Amino acid sequence: MKVFWNPAQLTHAPAFFLARGTVRANFEVPARAEALLEACRAMGMDAVTPPPVDIATLVAVHDPAYLTFLRDGYAAWSDIPDAGPEIVANHHPSPEMMANGARVPSNIVGQAGWFVADAACPIGPHTWEAAFHAAAGAVAAADEAARGFNAYALARPPGHHAFKARAGGHCYLNNAAIAAERLRAKGADRVAILDIDSHHGNGTQGIFWDRPDVLCVSVHGDPNRYYPWFTGHASERGGGDGAGCTLNFPLAIGTGDDGWLDAVATGVADARAYGAEAVVVSLGFDASVDEPLNALSVSADGFARAGAAIGALSLPTAIVQEGGYNVGVIGGLLTRFLTGFGNL
Ligand SMILES: [Zn+2]
Repeated sequence: MKVFWNPAQLTHAPAFFLARGTVRANFEVPARAEALLEACRAMGMDAVTPPPVDIATLVAVHDPAYLTFLRDGYAAWSDIPDAGPEIVANHHPSPEMMANGARVPSNIVGQAGWFVADAACPIGPHTWEAAFHAAAGAVAAADEAARGFNAYALARPPGHHAFKARAGGHCYLNNAAIAAERLRAKGADRVAILDIDSHHGNGTQGIFWDRPDVLCVSVHGDPNRYYPWFTGHASERGGGDGAGCTLNFPLAIGTGDDGWLDAVATGVADARAYGAEAVVVSLGFDASVDEPLNALSVSADGFARAGAAIGALSLPTAIVQEGGYNVGVIGGLLTRFLTGFGNL
């Protein structure tokens, strides 16, 4: 199995993070990617630098104005005399403002609030470069899947909290959505996204909400207790032509292997029943009992069994990295997942 990775993805090194009113060090660190890469090499997997992706491939998922903000916003921010070292938004349009005709402003401070959902996705001098190359890896993995092979995109920064025109939760470009859209463009009539990161894949859901051609399955911690707080309920099932093509499995905090694997198995069965021709896995490790977040208390063996369950679909699969923040364990969890998945 090929691993798609570009060292430029290490250049993004966010510093700011805000948790319960306290500023802390951001834990979406470059060392995460180095740990995952080391695990891949230990498994004998080839790390391949993906070709740059053309902007039209990104526009198939993301709004052009948002892409311009991600690419050029840092330079404008840096021109503010008293600007901090990263774009961090603290003004956001409320639903009431949106209902009253709110518009994106020309000033970078206002644009930051418009295009960014929360304080967990600071934008620094190399954020665009890293996100761009992570997305290119997802596209390359999708191209492998379109040729009938499985592939792993070592995507960092991650993507599943990014909407069509909004960053959030460490995510800027939605790598999994870009991979799914690429598979559609390459001829797969139906694509299933299986998101087993411990957080609801809210951005992915938003992008495909009214689409019948992409099934979005997310297994995650109960949003009443856990980021992204507002979405991820079982009652959210898609809208319009996409009604029934969004499936959410919110789980109680601390669920453990059995409940988590039951939900994963249900999602896999749903993907099979849907008639998926290709699969995108949003692979996060933050459900692990060894993670600082430890939302769902999943063991390393649980990740191996999840890999086996998804691999048993025997469909071309692009595995796209999402979260997982314990640098000391995520390499081992990736090894267990991919070994369980098979076809290395
Ligand atoms: Zn997560």
